[in-house]
Amino acid sequence: LAVKGVQALSPYQPGKPIDELARELGLNPAEIIKLASNENPLGPSDKALSAAKAALSELCLYPDGNGFELKQALAGRLGVEMSQITLGNGSNDVLEVIARCFAARDSEIIFSQYAFAVYPIVTQAIGATGVSVPAKDWGHDLDAMVAAVTDRTRLIFVANPNNPTGTVHTADAVEAFLEKVPENVLVVLDEAYCEYLKGGQYPDGIRLLSRFPNLIVCRTFSKAWGLAALRVGYSVSSPAIADILNRVRQPFNVDTIALAAATAVLSDEAYLERSCEVNAAGLRQLEQALDDMGLPYIPSAGNFIAVEVGERAQEIYQALLAHGVIVRPVAGYGMPKHLRVSVGLPEENSRFIEALGHSLASVG
Ligand code: PMP
Repeated sequence: LAVKGVQALSPYQPGKPIDELARELGLNPAEIIKLASNENPLGPSDKALSAAKAALSELCLYPDGNGFELKQALAGRLGVEMSQITLGNGSNDVLEVIARCFAARDSEIIFSQYAFAVYPIVTQAIGATGVSVPAKDWGHDLDAMVAAVTDRTRLIFVANPNNPTGTVHTADAVEAFLEKVPENVLVVLDEAYCEYLKGGQYPDGIRLLSRFPNLIVCRTFSKAWGLAALRVGYSVSSPAIADILNRVRQPFNVDTIALAAATAVLSDEAYLERSCEVNAAGLRQLEQALDDMGLPYIPSAGNFIAVEVGERAQEIYQALLAHGVIVRPVAGYGMPKHLRVSVGLPEENSRFIEALGHSLASVG
């Protein structure tokens, strides 16, 4: 009964609950470490946790459908108007609303090979045609993406940094790309991992909005801000685009607890700094260990790293599971020789490395 695009969809593959997995593997759930979903290993910010607990007293009431306080805090932090912000139930929600608002069955939507799995899903769900542009050095080939624009192109998704490859483009490259994209094509710059970027050579999409009215910047509280369970993301765009998105999104798409925690975490600068420090140190730890093991990996600007373990990646994934270490196979992204591992705490990274050594030896 489903429409054509929906029938052809492959669903997003979430991992199994840890308790269930532990039962299957005959392990104690406390022994299992999950480095599979690019979550923040620190646990939540105390400020966010207190705000979330306080908000529980409002369980009987609908949330603030406009997310006034969160938008006000975001606008202050980002130096934008509240009218430029659209809140979502995770940034996945915003990505979907964007596709529904600005593309239709006869549209083409461009994204890169190895791009985030949700782009093809939201494209197919509205019956539009996804145009996957071959990657360059695992990253987006921005020139080829511009060259792929046709009269039917409505949207281009660019994740910077990209998941699952961790590749990132500099500000110069992104600006040069935006200059070449026709004005009637919207560019979604997905900056889910932007907080981890250090150094001025990377773009801050929000600073580019005044020059490129066809730009939408998406961000999330799920990664460096440590609130993945609460599902809060947002876009920043021109007020005209935000107005359209706000008409189509569900009226209460972000709940009261999520709104309270996200608003509170924005004032926890120390938490954000610690997230970034722990991530940078963890990436260095993983890179060093992988270098020592002679395993190739894609240098990453995110909170994860794609490691090339070879043809038997699926077996190595299973062997890692047997050691109680969950990582993410990325064959579904067209990367059958890689496994993606999220950066954990130092001891979690060490356990992954140790388990990887055993798994490589046992699988051969
Ligand atoms: N964009 C990218 C590139 C991502 O990797 C993710 C999370 N996996 C998201 C968007 C969505 O994040 P969320 O819905 O949790 O905000």
